[in-house]
Amino acid sequence: MKQKEVFALVDCNSFYCSCERVFQPQYNKRPIIVLSNNDGCAVARTDEAKALGIEMGAPYFKIKDICKKNNVLVFSSNYTLYGDMSRRVMTLLSEFTPELEVYSIDEAFLSLKGFNRNLTDYGIEIKSTIKQQTGIPVSVGLASTKVLAKMANKMAKKGAFKSVGVLSLESESQIDELLGQFPVEDLWGIGRKSAEKLKSLNIRTARHLRDANELMIQKVLTIQGRRIVKELKGESCIDLQLSDPDKKQIISSRSFGRSVLSLHEIQESVANHISTAAEKLRRQNSLCKTLMVFIHTNRFKNTPQYYNSGIINLTTGTSITNKLIKSSFQILDSIYKEGFEYKKCGVMLADLYPQTHSQTDLFGLHDTTNEELQMEVLDKINLYHGKGTLKFAACGVNQFWKMLSEMKSPCYTTRWSDLLSIR
Ligand SMILES: [Mg+2]
Repeated sequence: MKQKEVFALVDCNSFYCSCERVFQPQYNKRPIIVLSNNDGCAVARTDEAKALGIEMGAPYFKIKDICKKNNVLVFSSNYTLYGDMSRRVMTLLSEFTPELEVYSIDEAFLSLKGFNRNLTDYGIEIKSTIKQQTGIPVSVGLASTKVLAKMANKMAKKGAFKSVGVLSLESESQIDELLGQFPVEDLWGIGRKSAEKLKSLNIRTARHLRDANELMIQKVLTIQGRRIVKELKGESCIDLQLSDPDKKQIISSRSFGRSVLSLHEIQESVANHISTAAEKLRRQNSLCKTLMVFIHTNRFKNTPQYYNSGIINLTTGTSITNKLIKSSFQILDSIYKEGFEYKKCGVMLADLYPQTHSQTDLFGLHDTTNEELQMEVLDKINLYHGKGTLKFAACGVNQFWKMLSEMKSPCYTTRWSDLLSIR
């Protein structure tokens, strides 16, 4: 007989807020929110902040008053910190299973197939290890399919299960009862549109969906929907995605913190995007043959509008940052026009292929060993001492065009100068 699947979904609670709290434990009871890029809207909220009625995605200017009145701590997003904390959590999780799927920055699926253990106990062990070694609180949902594990995780966060934070769905009757309480729109894989379609068919809970005719669901929600029905019945048909397939193209772009007019500042920003993208390119051992750069003005502003992009095809593929910066500046020279207020720029590396297939040009004139070594050193230093420790002069020093993040916390874990000091 085929061995039964067991999945655990581990999800960090209010992840970005929790990262901030780890280094400011005096804020343990205070409501916290974290804002998106440019301090636009709330993207993470602690339970205390949720209780104040602050919605996910609420624009900051609309909730500023509630925040002030209730002493809410507001942070700009600090992705360096969150990325590093995420890496720590995932590394710990990988010690609990040989099969781990990192699903997002704060979530992972673990396969526990064949583990001869009490699953609730194992979930509690995972939870307390992560808490103890990183300070991040997590919830754990366990079940025989990914859809059910996702649901178990949501339920583990509230009501009677909240104090433990771990829920293992094992008995048929318990699963049936919980499915009956679970709104269909909260299921993993059911988006807002699908939920509307289902509701028009009077399918309102996860139990309704489980008991619906599979063929009919397939007609309404395609084969994806049918898989969800099967998973709700306990038939696992969505496998773990164990390795991240290499990217086919790499994009780096971002809005400026303010309007930018000068070519010089756009160049700095583009050089930074190239640095980030090229580092990713090297991490997956690829080279790129096509480089695209784009710039545009703010289309929501009542000012003269301009958009342009340019492409360069490189004769030989490369992942060398300075070469790419040089080419990107050539593109910029051809697309930049004076007199516009620019809002955003970005780069795309495309036509990627594995470095092992590298072809030198006809006479092998360009020996790149030296530059490759330089890049290796650059990546190592930046990995060890934090992003941007070593960078190209073209990236600029002051970076006035950078996005707004006025309330950003220090990079406690990735920058020596930001290490917490203990008195
Ligand atoms: Mg989370």
